[in-house]
Amino acid sequence: MASVPTGSGYRRQLYRDDAVVLRVQKLGESDRIITLLTRRHGRLRAVARGVRRTMSRFGARLEPFGHVDLQLAGSPEGVGSSLHSVSQVEAVALYGKQFLTDYPRYTAASAIAETAERLTPVEREPSLRLFQLTLGALKALAAGEHAGGLVLDAYLLRAMATAGWAPAIAECAVCGTPGRHAAFSVPAGGAVCPDCRPPGSAHPAPATLLLMSALTDGDWPIADAAEPPVRRECSGLVAAHLQWHMERALRSLPLVDRRESS
Ligand SMILES: [Zn+2]
Repeated sequence: MASVPTGSGYRRQLYRDDAVVLRVQKLGESDRIITLLTRRHGRLRAVARGVRRTMSRFGARLEPFGHVDLQLAGSPEGVGSSLHSVSQVEAVALYGKQFLTDYPRYTAASAIAETAERLTPVEREPSLRLFQLTLGALKALAAGEHAGGLVLDAYLLRAMATAGWAPAIAECAVCGTPGRHAAFSVPAGGAVCPDCRPPGSAHPAPATLLLMSALTDGDWPIADAAEPPVRRECSGLVAAHLQWHMERALRSLPLVDRRESS
């Protein structure tokens, strides 16, 4: 690992990682702050200098939703400046380009990126599983083999599992009795048996809980076959479950356009 001196007295190390670009913010005239979910170093923010200049060496590689290979400068342990800088970037797959002309997929990608950021509140805390899920979801969205809304809901269910609050589906959320229970309560934590069912529980169609289970397990033949009303009910429950556990509502989730483009 190379080390370069800086004016502030500590040494900035150069290190490599691959990452998903979650967010890009302007910094002054020509610089950008890039929020990255990296494979080995968790979420971090890095400044990319001169990205707007003509013939920029970064160019379009640092756009949201891209999978990139980076060389970063800064201490990977987090000592010193919290803001790392991007010194090299190579594109692995720029998924963002494929969403620019596809609004439903763009909104789903935005909800995925926002969720990934919200589920990594602490910078530089490695979260390999969430990185893999986020990369996989963007790749699946770009591939277009499954409806964007289903890819998003599968991502949200699995991402919630990494945070430890996936909804109970195959057992009662309260007493743990296995089986498919008919009632669903967001405050109780998912499906609930007749004994534990709190007042105000929802009674989703059995096919809706089957879809939720299929999305969690990656059983795509079952998920793809789900009818539109079942998909709508499932995404409503997934969104309600997600919002219940997050301190602040996701900005991008209500904006997701679930019309399917071909
Ligand atoms: Zn129970």
